[in-house]
Amino acid sequence: MPWCTGCDRFLSPATVSPDGTCPKCGRAVDPGRAHAPAVEPAVGGDAAERRERRRARAERASRVDDPDEETLPVPWHLKLLVGAVALYLGYRAYEGIAWVVGRF
Ligand SMILES: [Zn+2]
Repeated sequence: MPWCTGCDRFLSPATVSPDGTCPKCGRAVDPGRAHAPAVEPAVGGDAAERRERRRARAERASRVDDPDEETLPVPWHLKLLVGAVALYLGYRAYEGIAWVVGRF
């Protein structure tokens, strides 16, 4: 970010005159290597680095999840249990409906 030593303030790059001077005092604007550029790339790099790390972690997590879902077969006793529960609940539902119908 450009730094004007005369006004002692930062200038946004858009407000700096095309010839590289401060629009207020007309001084040549100090690019401010000691001030802003040391801060700006560090902030930008930090955010980019954090974003990259988050993306890599999400990618790794999805890579770990996929083989688990593909290679783990449903155990036969779980299928048997689900089938038995469905059969039982269906029978109880039929019983309940028959009981309600029988009351009228
Ligand atoms: Zn100035």
